[in-house]
Amino acid sequence: MPPSEPWRRVARGVGLLDAAGGVRSTVFAEMTALARRTGALNLGQGFPDDDGPRWMLQAAADAVLGAPHGPPGLNQYPPGPGLPGLRRAVATHQHRHYGLAVDAEREVLVTAGATEAVAAAVLALVCPGDEVVTLEPFYDAYAAVVALAGGVHRTVPLRPGPDGFAVTEADVRAAFSPRTRLVLVNTPHNPTGTVLTTTELGWLAAAAREHDAVVVTDDVYEHLTYDGARHVPLATLPGMAGRTLTVSSAGKSLSVTGWKVGWVHGPEHLVTAVRTVKQFLTYVTPGAFQHAVGLALADDDGRTAAYLDGLRASLVQRRDRLADGVRAAGLVPAPSRGTYFLLADAAPAGFDDGAELCRLLPERAGVVAIPVTAFCHPGSATATALRSWVRFTFVKDVATTTEAVRRLEAAQLSRR
Ligand SMILES: *Cc1c(COP(=O)(O)O)cnc(C)c1O
Repeated sequence: MPPSEPWRRVARGVGLLDAAGGVRSTVFAEMTALARRTGALNLGQGFPDDDGPRWMLQAAADAVLGAPHGPPGLNQYPPGPGLPGLRRAVATHQHRHYGLAVDAEREVLVTAGATEAVAAAVLALVCPGDEVVTLEPFYDAYAAVVALAGGVHRTVPLRPGPDGFAVTEADVRAAFSPRTRLVLVNTPHNPTGTVLTTTELGWLAAAAREHDAVVVTDDVYEHLTYDGARHVPLATLPGMAGRTLTVSSAGKSLSVTGWKVGWVHGPEHLVTAVRTVKQFLTYVTPGAFQHAVGLALADDDGRTAAYLDGLRASLVQRRDRLADGVRAAGLVPAPSRGTYFLLADAAPAGFDDGAELCRLLPERAGVVAIPVTAFCHPGSATATALRSWVRFTFVKDVATTTEAVRRLEAAQLSRR
């Protein structure tokens, strides 16, 4: 049976369509298999070893079981837009952290993770031939869903500099056209670890207003910023709340990536459009997890704030330790002020091809990394510019990170 046209678009969109019309596996799958085969430490995949706060896990367990002689647990379909308690908590959270006024009834939708919120937004708003602007490198799901919608993916390059990765105003302007329909902005940014400044966000906002484009922001790392960097939601910029869908999720902030509790908020007409698609994708996400995340986001007793302080402090320590190991191995790390990720340039060690290095690393150093080209369009100018760069995660537990650093320091990688 021949594959469908949407299937073909997705496979091509993520650069995995091979010459025979089949699909290659992703670099992520290849590297995970390599880690298993060689026993290398997997610093490729970005999910935590440690679970989120114990009391939140307990709240989810209690919500499944219900009271012994009381009401049953939350085990049936929750309301389509999400549990009212979680929607109120999202509104409270956005007001407390960013001063955004959000109507929990009409302007919040709970989704199956940030991934579904982004996918439903793109499918709801992008017509075939419409252009969607993202940063490059980008989270791989963006390219897939833009392709699925029949959209044309345009990108703004993040360029490495002495102070980390950044965008330029000229590059932002060049990515927009009269066909631009949607701008999908991820900050703090995976994979570069960049936290966009208000100036950079201002260029994106101005271009979106000028071309009357809708903005979707992926803020899943909003609480994971370091060294004094602060996340600024694009919706807080002047004139932007009326055209911005803000997406986030419990997965990264609360170390429960498997729960897939996400949300989107924005103007009612845009949220309604997203909901129209979302209700036929997953319909709902489990009520017990929504309930527990709602308690954590509302944070009536400050336990979540304390948890996040501890998580950030621990991630900074692991990041710095990993950067030392990466440097000792002859690579040059870029500053990372957010997310779980550290990028490093392998060119100074004599590797012009990050993908080649990633295939050697498990044998030579006993660790796994991901080439940055996996987050670029094949053959794009950014893919060429970042060909020698690789991504490591520092979200693995302290023992794993320490052992990875020991191995990197012991490895003789440099070809120079
Ligand atoms: C991990 C990640 C996601 C996925 O979030 P879910 O809530 O698990 O769907 C989305 N965007 C970025 C940039 C991520 O790194």
